[in-house]
Amino acid sequence: MIEKRQFYINGAWVDPIAGTDCDVIDPSTEEAVAVISLGGQADTDAAVAAAKAALPAWRALKPETRIEYVERILTAYKEREHDMAKAMSLEMGAPIEFSLDEQVDSGDWHIRGFLHAVKNFEWEHSLEGQRGTRILKDPIGVVGMITPWNWPMNQVTLKVIPAMMTGCTMVLKPSEVAPLSSLLFAEIMDAAGVPPGVFNLVNGDGVGVGTQLSTHPDVDMISFTGSTRAGIAISKAAADTLKRVSLELGGKGANIVFADADADAVKRGAAQVFENTGQSCNSPTRMLVERGRYDQAVEEAAEVARSTRVGPAAEKGSHIGPLVNETQFNKVQGLIQKGIDEGARLVEGGVGRPDGLNRGYFARPTVFADVTPDMTIMQEEIFGPVLSIMPFDSADEALSIANDTVYGLTNYVQSSDPAKLERFARELHSGMVQMNGKGRGKGAPFGGVGQSGNGREGGVWGLEEFVEIKSVGGWPV
Ligand code: NAD
Repeated sequence: MIEKRQFYINGAWVDPIAGTDCDVIDPSTEEAVAVISLGGQADTDAAVAAAKAALPAWRALKPETRIEYVERILTAYKEREHDMAKAMSLEMGAPIEFSLDEQVDSGDWHIRGFLHAVKNFEWEHSLEGQRGTRILKDPIGVVGMITPWNWPMNQVTLKVIPAMMTGCTMVLKPSEVAPLSSLLFAEIMDAAGVPPGVFNLVNGDGVGVGTQLSTHPDVDMISFTGSTRAGIAISKAAADTLKRVSLELGGKGANIVFADADADAVKRGAAQVFENTGQSCNSPTRMLVERGRYDQAVEEAAEVARSTRVGPAAEKGSHIGPLVNETQFNKVQGLIQKGIDEGARLVEGGVGRPDGLNRGYFARPTVFADVTPDMTIMQEEIFGPVLSIMPFDSADEALSIANDTVYGLTNYVQSSDPAKLERFARELHSGMVQMNGKGRGKGAPFGGVGQSGNGREGGVWGLEEFVEIKSVGGWPV
């Protein structure tokens, strides 16, 4: 059993003051593999005090000096990449090769992305034609960071790196479900020589350390990624101290496949739903297919589900792993059953574990067809390997169904007609649109609208999140 009860505060590993034990469960075996401590108010206070004390010296450094620290973090991160892959694989069930190639790599990608974006970041400037009016960008101050378990290092690097670059200090509270990778990240920060107090880590749950950070008078901002439910709770908790709250929340992405889409469009979309066992906020889980191609699309998606192997996270290979924990397993099972009960046509998968897997939180890659917009599986984020497909007859109808959701994170369009692509890019109600299987480039912002949140992470926009604009008149010229 791995024992990781300590927190990283003020540049040192310290025992909890008010901690209670919490097991970390390997979702492939359902066995406890590590024990951490959930901190209490005294631990949160100690971490926030360290961040507050470190702020004046850190923000006074030249940006170039802070950027040098980030370069050292990147080197230290690369040195520990295999340990990091193992940590994430164990705590949240990403198969080991996927963990290294995608989960670990996402952190690396973001650190590099910020190192690139910061080169063009305008730290201050005069108003055009008015040299005496100067616009400065102050660090917002002490940032509380609350992260989820599904892409652990993706989320941590998207917050820690731009906050450091802009001169903020911080307290990270990773998900109590997947804390091992963040504890290792604290070791990386230590190895990179980040000054004491700039980065602090306290483990805890949402009602405990999460709420303590959200209500803390000395925390200037909460940067949160997680469920819409928790985002609402955090916004309310943070209201009394009027801190800035940046939210990256859930999603229910539509993938609109026109009849003129490329031959791989459906298979590509289905595979993306099953990736990471469906536990991605930007998963294209609602597939809308133009009627002429609908029957074929249902067959193709079912074939992708059938050929998606499910297996333990420690095994090498391109299979998908288990769901993260029992709660998530039960939620996904319940929603699959609801899909059946509400009359969707189950074409592949279904409730229960895949054959041969009797232990571990493994779910069956599942495809529903003939889904209607009012069904629960079309409205709720399932966060499991479940694809819902329905036909459409006109572009207007597809647009209206796609936008009929409280979420607005990423939508997808597949077509060979530039006019359709441009229309949908403009009219889809979401923070991101991805077309014809193309990703968004390095430095493009990530974020949503509506109940998918209000934050923009990555690139220049991700740096802007952590600054306050200061407007100065009478600047000496
Ligand atoms: P969650 O909201 O249950 O937990 C996320 C984090 O919030 C954890 O650290 C948890 O301890 C904390 N938390 C929970 N309740 C809290 C409260 N009341 N106050 C303060 N902190 C609280 O989410 P999860 O199950 O860990 O992650 C899955 C969710 O995250 C999904 O909805 C997914 O779509 C979303 N997500 C969004 C993005 C994005 O960028 N938009 C990225 C990844 C995941």
